Amino acid sequence: MDATVCEVTPQPLSEALPVTTLKGVGPKLAERLRRLGIATIGDVLLHLPLRYQDRSRLTPINQLQPGDEAQIEAEVLSSEVTARGRRFLLCRLADGTGVLTLRFFHFSPPQQQLLGRPGVRLRCFGEVRAGYSGGLEMIHPECCRIGPDDPPVLDRLTPIYPATAGLQQFTLRGLVEQVLGQTEALLPELLPLPLLARLQLPPIAEAVRLLHQPPTDVALADLESGRHPAQRRLAFEELLAHQISLRRLREQTRRQAAPPLAGSGLSQRFLERLPFQLTGAQQRVLQEINIDLAQPRPMLRLLQGDVGSGKTVVAAAAALRAVDTGAQAALMAPTELLAEQHHRNFRHWLEALGIEVAWLTGRLTGKARRTVLERLATGDIQVVVGTHALFQEAVVFAELALVIVDEQHRFGVHQRLALREKGRAGGRCPHQLIMTATPIPRTLAMSAYADLDTSIIDELPPGRQPVKTVAAPDHRRSEIVDRIRQACLSGRQAYWVCPLIEESEVLQCQAATVTAEQLTELLAELRVGLVHGRLPAAAKEAVMARFKGGEIDLLVATTVIEVGVDVPNASLMVIENPERLGLAQLHQLRGRVGRGTVASSCVLLYRPPLSEIARERLAVLRECHDGFEIARRDLELRGPGEVLGTRQTGEQNLRIADLLRDQDLLNAVRHSADQLLSEHPECVDPLIRRWIGAGSRYGEV
Ligand code: ADP
Ligand code: MG
Repeated sequence: MDATVCEVTPQPLSEALPVTTLKGVGPKLAERLRRLGIATIGDVLLHLPLRYQDRSRLTPINQLQPGDEAQIEAEVLSSEVTARGRRFLLCRLADGTGVLTLRFFHFSPPQQQLLGRPGVRLRCFGEVRAGYSGGLEMIHPECCRIGPDDPPVLDRLTPIYPATAGLQQFTLRGLVEQVLGQTEALLPELLPLPLLARLQLPPIAEAVRLLHQPPTDVALADLESGRHPAQRRLAFEELLAHQISLRRLREQTRRQAAPPLAGSGLSQRFLERLPFQLTGAQQRVLQEINIDLAQPRPMLRLLQGDVGSGKTVVAAAAALRAVDTGAQAALMAPTELLAEQHHRNFRHWLEALGIEVAWLTGRLTGKARRTVLERLATGDIQVVVGTHALFQEAVVFAELALVIVDEQHRFGVHQRLALREKGRAGGRCPHQLIMTATPIPRTLAMSAYADLDTSIIDELPPGRQPVKTVAAPDHRRSEIVDRIRQACLSGRQAYWVCPLIEESEVLQCQAATVTAEQLTELLAELRVGLVHGRLPAAAKEAVMARFKGGEIDLLVATTVIEVGVDVPNASLMVIENPERLGLAQLHQLRGRVGRGTVASSCVLLYRPPLSEIARERLAVLRECHDGFEIARRDLELRGPGEVLGTRQTGEQNLRIADLLRDQDLLNAVRHSADQLLSEHPECVDPLIRRWIGAGSRYGEV
């Protein structure tokens, strides 16, 4: 027999092996691990502790302080199960310096036995608190029996991992311990050493080992704030993997063919008929878009512009280029309300040029829906506005040449990919324009949207008066109510916004409901409406439509009105509890007024006393009207990590990195992505597999 034929290559140790190859991991545990995003051995190693406990020291009982997390070693004096009221186990320990009580509300017979033998020596770890009957106690400490030959205390910190129901810390620790010794083999170094040296980042194996078992003299404050070099090393590699995958995605899309849209006749006519001139910024951005559209490759462009900067006109001009070549354009908004508003604008502009604008959302049903679908399939309809219903299976386009998405942050990277697929028919891919009013600092945008080019409208249309913003304490409420009465009686409209007071949406809506009732009473001569997130979509839109139509004077609302709603006659806005909202969000809210030509104002009705920072933040809003500048100041005042929140930055599903906290790494990430792609292409696939997973959408590209 030929020896080479039977040679069995031993399965190499690999980070890609499933967790079930570890000792003690059966289907049940594997399922629980999967809920934590842990499927492979590599995932076990990259499942990092949330925090650490110091079990390296023993504290004498007489030095314990309430609130401490501490470890003690002492002997059992006595123990009893009390039966008065609730049943619990009390155990008294002494270590020669003092006496401590352990209290258990739940306990097993073996536990009771262990704690029930006077003279037994225990090591306990837990939080110290003042006891019910004087003295100190620990509730449900972790306890183990200590014999004379047992090892001394640990010489490293104890990790506490993110866990899930039915998965104990010791199980996670055990799994990590099984593999940690082989970290070098399991997580091979993928980054070039000179690169790491330049960035002063440790090798991956060293970083991973440190994070699972930090020595007691580690810089704990750095670890706790996510700034330790070991954490930065992993964050860097993760960001690099995402950067590279987005770039590949972009390259792959850009290799596809797209219909070149070069005809400018229609869009010229459209611009000439507008009652205003485009601002310089709008012209520049439209130029950038037009150059892209004329190419036989798909445009991939993010259009950023503050609220009211006039993105919609630019989008319409772009759509007309598709119409001009006989192809189709689709505009997608995140809500029915916004879709309806865009539909109205587009119809107003395009029907004057003899172009029909169709409408397609989940609410369009029956015959009307079938007709629209048919006419989209034949190419009879060239421009359609709608919600994500536009991209369902049943919708077929004759030739979709341009997809425009409004308010990108409501969609994620995955929707972006789905859209690209949709238009891909006959080997052609549509051009894509994504519009967002969320000011994202440039470095962040280049990372979060590495698959897109960026255009920015950094100028508001002329004559737009900045929204005069004032802060007023809550006790001036009646004065504010009077202002609303005056404004509305003179024909204007107003918003009263009740943002998040409690974490719960139910309570938030209740607060808005109560406020609406009070204001209805106080302002009997006005028509007061109410809109909040728990109203059914149809009811919500009915209220908005009545407000837009001038049938409601004062609209009481939760933050549901934040995005994109345009009622030019509304010139006054009151925002309650502004200190609870991010500056960027306040700026977006305030952008709902000041859309017409009358002077508008915004009252920030705060509840005193304000903290120093809160005061400064409200001052930023009073003084500043530029969304990008506001985002920058917010970052300075609050520190990264809070500014955009997960809504904007969470879409990449980062495990370790945080775009804001780690933004100082982003330049290096971009340069390293170039370097890796050109000089070390062999590292790229393993890197993407490690961080993004083989089965993901990115992984396929
Ligand atoms: P956003 O960027 O927030 O989507 P819109 O496109 O809704 O802004 O524009 C806000 C308002 O400004 C609309 O009523 C629009 O018609 C108007 N507008 C847009 N561009 C100009 C301009 N160059 N001059 C005057 N008004 C403009
Ligand atoms: Mg808009």
